Amino acid sequence: MREKTPNVFLAEMRELHPDIEVMGEYVRSKIGVDCRCRFCGHEWTTSGQSLVQGSGCPACARKKNSDRQRGIPVKRRI
Ligand SMILES: [Zn+2]
Repeated sequence: MREKTPNVFLAEMRELHPDIEVMGEYVRSKIGVDCRCRFCGHEWTTSGQSLVQGSGCPACARKKNSDRQRGIPVKRRI
C-alpha cells in the first residue's frame, strides 16, 4: 500500500475530524502522531491509520458511550 503524504493526511483529517488538531508530525500511517481534541482538550497519541479509519478522541468516545444525553460539550473557540 502507498503511504500518504502528510498533506494528504492533514486534508483527510480536516474533513473527517475537524475537531481533532494534529499536533505532531505525521510520518507514516502506522506511526503514532500526537493529537488534541478541540472539543474536550484531551491529548493522545494514535496512528494516522486509525484516525483515517474513523477513530476519534477516546475521551469523547467514552463520554458519548457513558452519558450520551448529558448535554452538549462546549465547543472551544479557535
Ligand atoms: Zn475529546
